[in-house]
Amino acid sequence: MPVCHFIGIFAAENVENAPQRPRNGTNSRMERTLVLLKPSTVQRALIGEIISRFEKKGLRIAGMKMMQLNDQILEEHYAHLVKKPFFPSLKASMMKTPVVAMCLEGVDAIAVVRYITGYTNGRKADAGTIRGDYCMSNQQNIVHASDSPEAAIAELARFFKPEEIYDLGTLNMDRLYAVDEA
Ligand code: UDP
Ligand code: MG
Repeated sequence: MPVCHFIGIFAAENVENAPQRPRNGTNSRMERTLVLLKPSTVQRALIGEIISRFEKKGLRIAGMKMMQLNDQILEEHYAHLVKKPFFPSLKASMMKTPVVAMCLEGVDAIAVVRYITGYTNGRKADAGTIRGDYCMSNQQNIVHASDSPEAAIAELARFFKPEEIYDLGTLNMDRLYAVDEA
């Protein structure tokens, strides 16, 4: 049982998607994760601003492209939600415009990106998180971010061909991390 269930700090609907703080040091590793800038970002002309949040944080962009999503990819991507009553509306919202798919890279990138993305519902997301700062919606919530190492691997393979993800080598690494961190 997650600790927050036990101490009851968060409302129940938030607990499942509560962003976890990245691990503390010793088990850190270089990771890649998938981010989608959703149609809500594209429609509101926030693409540059949201990319900038990730860049300024120090996540490296190893892949990026625009894509028009369709029923098939959304039914796979949101397989855990296909039976939910909001799924038709979610699917329609994700097809309104192309999305921007990004492969972000960094130490603990999966947890870091979830953490700075914030809670699913923009109205409840903390100020300072992307959803907390840029949206009022539970559905039109600006970004998708992979929620685990397994999901990141599956989702990157779903949205990117291997050759669309670039090896950035040591680019900027000496500025982003201490020698024993990365
Ligand atoms: N969603 C929705 N209504 C809900 C819960 C989720 O429309 O009650 C949408 C929302 O856009 C969310 C996406 O479904 O980002 C995927 O849901 P998930 O629970 O995986 O949340 P996330 O991982 O995106 O925070
Ligand atoms: Mg999710």
